[in-house]
Amino acid sequence: KYDRVYNFSAGPSMLPVPVLEKARDELLNYHGTGESVMEMSHRSAEYQEIIDRAEADLRDLLKIPDNYKVLFLQGGGTLQFSMVPMNLLRKSKKADYIITGNWAKKAYEEATKFGDIRIAATSEPDHYSYIPKCGRDDFREDADYVYICYNNTIYGSHFNYIPDTGDIPLVADMSSSFLSEEVDVSKFGLIYAGAQKNVAPAGVTIVIVREDLLGFADEKTPIYLDYATHAKKGSMYNTPPCFTIYMAGLVFQYLKSIGGVKAIHEIDVKKAGKLYDYLDSTDFYRTGIEPEDRSLMNVTFVTGNPELDAKFVAEAKEQGMINLKGHRSVGGIRASIFNAMPPEGVDKLIEFMKQFEAKNR
Ligand code: PMP
Repeated sequence: KYDRVYNFSAGPSMLPVPVLEKARDELLNYHGTGESVMEMSHRSAEYQEIIDRAEADLRDLLKIPDNYKVLFLQGGGTLQFSMVPMNLLRKSKKADYIITGNWAKKAYEEATKFGDIRIAATSEPDHYSYIPKCGRDDFREDADYVYICYNNTIYGSHFNYIPDTGDIPLVADMSSSFLSEEVDVSKFGLIYAGAQKNVAPAGVTIVIVREDLLGFADEKTPIYLDYATHAKKGSMYNTPPCFTIYMAGLVFQYLKSIGGVKAIHEIDVKKAGKLYDYLDSTDFYRTGIEPEDRSLMNVTFVTGNPELDAKFVAEAKEQGMINLKGHRSVGGIRASIFNAMPPEGVDKLIEFMKQFEAKNR
């Protein structure tokens, strides 16, 4: 209908068409206010309703317990690499990190500026091909928190278990799997996710944090970087990214309308399952991740020949399937198939892969 491409980017990525249509319909005159949400005061009653509903719908979707705050912040996932240690290194100033990819490693490196940070486990020597299995014995008893990256966008791996950390708060970067699966929020001290994959356009980062962890930031902490600042003011300490939060709210409403996280997860399992089944059925393409640790959102593979990989990416683009190039740090091919990637997009990709294999074998 709109002549749209299938965008396999790891983010910013596709948004559901009904969400884009609704935003279009409301763009010039939001609910009879005579203005766009882009132009609206964040202190207006209309905007308060938008942000309140977004938070309420997200709480519903993830069954977020009452003792958790939901914050809408700026600075991307990257700022959380700093905000997490600045706020959560509250007693021993020790934290343990599990390194399963570039984003976890970057978070670890940033945290080392703020305290005694230790690597509890890493799969780096094995090219991040698996998720280490860790339990209580792997963490220092007095650690202030344990940190994981739940879904590794670049390598295409995913924590298919929640490490048991006992009483130590568990922190998870869920940027690239947020809202693609049900998670038991009560098992985490803090969850964060940048929006530009499963939630909204870039510009907002969602933080879900247990209340009792707030208020321990060093007094020299810049006011914006203290979670407590935002928690006290309902994410309205300063001007929030109003339009992006509105878009996130539309995505939440849309997800609820199709049956919530459980329903989208079933669709995601089918989409990724088809792609992995095909990959497993051929030796023309190879995927380097242990089967039990595979991501439903980012599916990575290679032909074994970098020139052929580049040809694959270029020819797919000609057929309306864009951004299939692997991350610049690893190369190869990556199909990011977030919630808003229609199943037909995955079917079309598999068809293309078969034809490409037949021609280039
Ligand atoms: N964490 C993960 C898992 C990511 O995939 C990314 C970016 N793709 C980041 C953090 C960094 O996010 P941002 O670009 O929003 O700072």
